Amino acid sequence: MTTGILALQGDFREHAEMLMSIGEASLEVRHPDQLDCLDALIVPGGESTTIARLILKYEFREPLQLFCRSGRPVWGTCAGAILLAKEVDRLDRPGIETMNMAVSRNAFGRQVNSFEEEIEFKGLTDGAFRAIFIRAPLIESVETDVEVLGRLSNGVIVAARQRNLLATVFHPELGQDPRLHKYFLTMATNRPAEAGAGA
Ligand code: GLN
Repeated sequence: MTTGILALQGDFREHAEMLMSIGEASLEVRHPDQLDCLDALIVPGGESTTIARLILKYEFREPLQLFCRSGRPVWGTCAGAILLAKEVDRLDRPGIETMNMAVSRNAFGRQVNSFEEEIEFKGLTDGAFRAIFIRAPLIESVETDVEVLGRLSNGVIVAARQRNLLATVFHPELGQDPRLHKYFLTMATNRPAEAGAGA
């Protein structure tokens, strides 16, 4: 099993360390050709405008869209979730645009307004997950083929899944809890023999 982490900008190393903590090696992806050998891909948090610019610069956009359609799991965290969304406010160039949801950037204010909250994540049966939000976006709406997996106590959607595509607007790679990384890996091992979202 080979999990790639898009390593153009952002906290790809933290994802690699979390995967390492559960005995999973990963590959830093810096060139579209590397996508071919992957079973799953993480698009990390960072600055979505910068990552979108680098995706265009290094001709990643179409290969990433094809990867999403191939059925292999893709997980966008924070800026990564922004890049997966089909609809985003205030992103001055296109991201990957494959997931049927609308996302609002910097919805909770600035870096100083970062916060943590325990959320019930549908799919984790062993207790709440302490989620870390850093200049996070929120998921404003999802289409009917997208399942909501987590909400804040005020009802705001912070985690969602559309078949092989997973989006969390918080940072599961920070902190000590590897359960969401394990959940994502099971999406690859239990992958149905069908095409992915948007195919
Ligand atoms: N605010 C960032 C953006 O819009 C995302 C923040 C993050 O990934 N922690 O790109």
